[in-house]
Amino acid sequence: MRKYFVLFLFFCVVSFDFAQTDTNLVFLGDVDSTIVTDVRYATVNNFTHQVLYPTAKVYLRKIVAEHLALVNNYVKEKYSLRLKVFDGYRPLSVQKKMWKIVPDSRYVANPKNGSRHNRGAAVDLTLIDSTGKELDMGTGFDNFTEKAHYNSQDLTERQKENRKLLRDAMMKFGFEPLSTEWWHFDYHGWRKFNILDKVFTK
Ligand SMILES: [Zn+2]
Repeated sequence: MRKYFVLFLFFCVVSFDFAQTDTNLVFLGDVDSTIVTDVRYATVNNFTHQVLYPTAKVYLRKIVAEHLALVNNYVKEKYSLRLKVFDGYRPLSVQKKMWKIVPDSRYVANPKNGSRHNRGAAVDLTLIDSTGKELDMGTGFDNFTEKAHYNSQDLTERQKENRKLLRDAMMKFGFEPLSTEWWHFDYHGWRKFNILDKVFTK
């Protein structure tokens, strides 16, 4: 009897892992078209000054996109705000390209280990008001200074409040923050999603 119970537990663990490594990536706009996107890596307006993505569309794992839509709904209903996404899934080949341009692990994740974005479970974003204006977070996206750290003391009360508002809303729906980048969040269990290299061209 005990043997069967152990087997049962084993299959539970295995099936959970399978669910998490599902390679299904979805276009965020299909899940929630009211989330604004501004994909800097599809333009030269990023820290590498090169176009790295062939498309400005944001892709994420299905479960991650669905939870992001819940966050968007929540901030819309409660604060009349919306989400603006800068980055989501990033193919491993793009990570390698970034590393070639900036081989410094303070700014770019080493492709040897993969970036959390390569798993399709990470998202970079901010909040915008009803006019489309970004809330003041103290720094912009991809600002690699200490001021971008969530707990930086070099911030006004309003900037601290804005960061907390974003963080609280994201955590409410299963996202984990990163202490060094106020804009970066990982969907919980991100380690279980495998690294992918599927390139979307449109
Ligand atoms: Zn990020």
